[in-house]
Amino acid sequence: MHKFVETRVPGPCPSCGTEIEYLYTTENIPYFSDILIISAICPSCGYKFVDTQLLKHGEPARHTLAVTSQDDLSVRVVRSMSASIEIPELGVRIDPGPKCEGFVSNVEGILDRVEHVVKGALLWGNDEEKENSAQLLADLARVKAGLLPVTLIVEDPHGNSGIESNRVINEKYEPEE
Ligand SMILES: [Zn+2]
Repeated sequence: MHKFVETRVPGPCPSCGTEIEYLYTTENIPYFSDILIISAICPSCGYKFVDTQLLKHGEPARHTLAVTSQDDLSVRVVRSMSASIEIPELGVRIDPGPKCEGFVSNVEGILDRVEHVVKGALLWGNDEEKENSAQLLADLARVKAGLLPVTLIVEDPHGNSGIESNRVINEKYEPEE
């Protein structure tokens, strides 16, 4: 059972200055310290904000999960705005950026996000990019079918991310400058 606590805090929209409501939700999940989800949508300019943080002061942490079966697709992943996600076998790396949102998802949700980006490259890329994208989509389908084992690595310099599995390897690392 997850426990939710919600708090609404008024504040200015960072984009247009309209007074909007920030929703702070704390959630208690096994294997984790409490999670704080901060979200806001500005009705006047459409500005959207989501961040996810574990409620602890974290050190740089790397979380590694071997994704070897379809059961692993439902493993929950918490990614804060500062975390990068890497799947080395597929040559996939998602770096944090200014438009990057924190989220609570699962392994399948992350594969879906990658798929979404790759499908875009398939439409707009050059011939070589299209070929690479088609190959990557085929690989992603094999991962989802449990036929292609891959490694999921989440690195967070602020230690606010995590993978919810008793098979995850958690370690410290030195962030690159
Ligand atoms: Zn606004």
